[in-house]
Amino acid sequence: MAIQLGDSPEEAAWRQEVRQFIEQEAPAELKTGGGGEGGLFGRMGAVKQWRDKVAEKGWIAPSWPKQYGGAEMSVVGQFIMNEEFAEAGVPSNVGGFGVMMIGPTLIEHGTEEQKEEHLGRILRGEVIWCQGYSEPGAGSDLAALQTRAVRDGDDYVLNGQKIWTTGAQYSDWMYMLARTDPEAPKHRGITYLLVDMKSPGITVQPLTTMAGTQTFNEVFFEDVRVPVQNRVGEENRGWYVGTTTLDFERSSIGSAIGVRKSLEGLMRRAKEGKESSFERSASVRHEFVDRWVEAEVAKMLSYRVISMQAAGMIPNYEASMCKLFTSELQQRIANLSMHLYGMHGNVINRSSMGYMQGVSATIAGGTTEVQKNIMATRGLGLPRG
Ligand SMILES: Cc1cc2nc3c(=O)[nH]c(=O)nc-3n(C[C@H](O)[C@H](O)[C@H](O)COP(=O)(O)OP(=O)(O)OC[C@H]3O[C@@H](n4cnc5c(N)ncnc54)[C@H](O)[C@@H]3O)c2cc1C
Repeated sequence: MAIQLGDSPEEAAWRQEVRQFIEQEAPAELKTGGGGEGGLFGRMGAVKQWRDKVAEKGWIAPSWPKQYGGAEMSVVGQFIMNEEFAEAGVPSNVGGFGVMMIGPTLIEHGTEEQKEEHLGRILRGEVIWCQGYSEPGAGSDLAALQTRAVRDGDDYVLNGQKIWTTGAQYSDWMYMLARTDPEAPKHRGITYLLVDMKSPGITVQPLTTMAGTQTFNEVFFEDVRVPVQNRVGEENRGWYVGTTTLDFERSSIGSAIGVRKSLEGLMRRAKEGKESSFERSASVRHEFVDRWVEAEVAKMLSYRVISMQAAGMIPNYEASMCKLFTSELQQRIANLSMHLYGMHGNVINRSSMGYMQGVSATIAGGTTEVQKNIMATRGLGLPRG
């Protein structure tokens, strides 16, 4: 079968339109990508400016149906847009968890009142959402979560704790999972709730990562009242709603292009050869070649995932391969940077920041070991342990 990697004439025209938009509208300070102090959260002003432009253009919710104010782009159309955004170094998912996760979940499972209340505000960028899934004893084994929601009249009363909640300190709303039936088998006693972050009894405690950034938080609930009308789907059926939300995560083309761009940055420096004669050694040249080949492989793996989606298939172990390979490559490139510049890298290109931040990519969205379990059982057909 012939492999067609180039754009059709319509796709090329769409790519051109996206490029032109970025050129005209993207704030210069974002074009350097997501790094820097506090990542994108450290540059909220510029992110907001960019988000408003994307929203004005009608592209903020690329996958949502037009009926709900989305752009209803094809899978390939979304892919090209994300690829061009990543190529320019500007954030692609400016609608955040609202557009990417909770919006599509409400479209599928929400009541008319919930859609009415939330979808428009998400599209207009008026609210920030966070995801309250992980707990100190529930990460890879998410169904082990223990935060309790007890029905009391027209409310649920929440008690417990979430952790690693990205952006909770900036968020207006949280979609979350809580245990409503502790006696039921663990996947069957969970309910999906929408929680107003201003509710009395919520405490948000930022966590400082080893890179010195504060993107994660612990969130504590003490007798927090959540109206029953904020429940999505049926009581005790939240696991199935919650896994729909996770299905909306997309292929990692943004990260595949991102790793290649950080490699290009390192190569530009090495070509100038200003830092040390070490940059010109054969071992370093070979390391660059290895990483370059791997960056091409990462791109191909993400093309595979997107081609499957475009053909109406649901990528499974293929998405795990893509995520695993790209996130580990990110670490190998950060290692190369440390190897080249060591402590001096802190001054010239903040290589130690990249090194420390790279670790989280192998944990977020399913750890490396969990991806390997999926590939071993569903990809290779090996028996479960
Ligand atoms: C950048 C980032 C952003 C995040 N944002 C959010 C967020 O917004 N909201 C949210 O709810 N959570 C968020 N998380 C949390 C994330 O979902 C969890 O960290 C992840 O699911 C892993 O869970 P854990 O940290 O509890 O580790 P554990 O699940 O406790 O894993 C510990 C170690 O054991 C290994 N392990 C676990 N199970 C198995 C197994 N079956 N086989 C082999 N090895 C195994 C893991 O690979 C890991 O090495 C974020 C995490 C990161 C890094």
